[in-house]
Amino acid sequence: MKSIDGRAIAATLRAETESAAAGLRDAGTAPTLAIVVPTQDEATLWYVRSLTKAAQRAGVECRVDELSEPTGADVCRRLAELSDDPAVHGVMCQTPLPEGVSLPEVGAYIAPDKDVDGANPASLGKLVAGLPVFGPATATAVMEILRRSGAPLRGARAVVVGRSIVVGKPAALLLTAAHATVTVCHSRTADLAAECARADVLVVAAGRPKMVGAGHVKPGAVVVDVGTNPTPDGGLVGDVDADALAGIDGSLTPVPGGVGPVTTAVLLRNTVHAAAAAR
Ligand code: NDP
Repeated sequence: MKSIDGRAIAATLRAETESAAAGLRDAGTAPTLAIVVPTQDEATLWYVRSLTKAAQRAGVECRVDELSEPTGADVCRRLAELSDDPAVHGVMCQTPLPEGVSLPEVGAYIAPDKDVDGANPASLGKLVAGLPVFGPATATAVMEILRRSGAPLRGARAVVVGRSIVVGKPAALLLTAAHATVTVCHSRTADLAAECARADVLVVAAGRPKMVGAGHVKPGAVVVDVGTNPTPDGGLVGDVDADALAGIDGSLTPVPGGVGPVTTAVLLRNTVHAAAAAR
């Protein structure tokens, strides 16, 4: 399979964001993203550091708000405060969250016009209604990758593995809006391999290392591997077994270097758009 270079797509997106951010700064607005971090989870902290570095490169200010052993109510309060701060243009919340609260519950405290990661259920509602909105960044990144790599979507048969609120469901909505015919699979799907093997476009977001193999992929398919599964040696592996697909015609996003960098670039672009809209 041909590899789709997520880093190159992210660089193009970032260049667009950089010039828009520079224009805003010249006009007196410093685009600012606030990230609430309610956890000491090592993988989350690593991701936040890499997002902060990418923001610096793109000319977006990043405020990292680490909360120590917060309750769900603490997280909601902080998100509401940041939403009220006129110097902040984008607000997002990292997971894992404290016991007893879900992302849509805390996301409801993010002002919709600052909801750059589409976490507020109102943003998801707009996505369903086909209204302009920031969708969840990872699902949006999947669409950027498909569009920018020239994958035909209109009339294509798309299969999404995973139905989470952050990736699978919004990816299915965005693919439907792009006129693909979409099937959503999950852990109770009867014959996952057969469903996947019909796909022209296969998006895998299950969080199961290498679960998609040669028997799941039709020759010529475009495969987007969203999975990021940590390996014992500190690396990352996707949900797709890239080696098993090597001899099949088609294209595949690598892990790392596929969806991840594009997701980061989408978050920064959304922040700059939110800053421009706030002026
Ligand atoms: P969730 O755990 O919330 O959802 C996983 C989904 O996969 C569920 O719908 C689940 O089904 C389904 N699933 C699990 N096992 C199987 C199986 N054996 N067969 C079919 N379906 C299955 O995960 P997320 O959506 O949050 O994340 C998915 C992956 O994407 C993870 O690896 C995560 O780390 C990665 N990710 C990457 C990002 C990036 O920027 N690169 C950002 C966000 C996530 P059911 O609903 O029935 O339980």
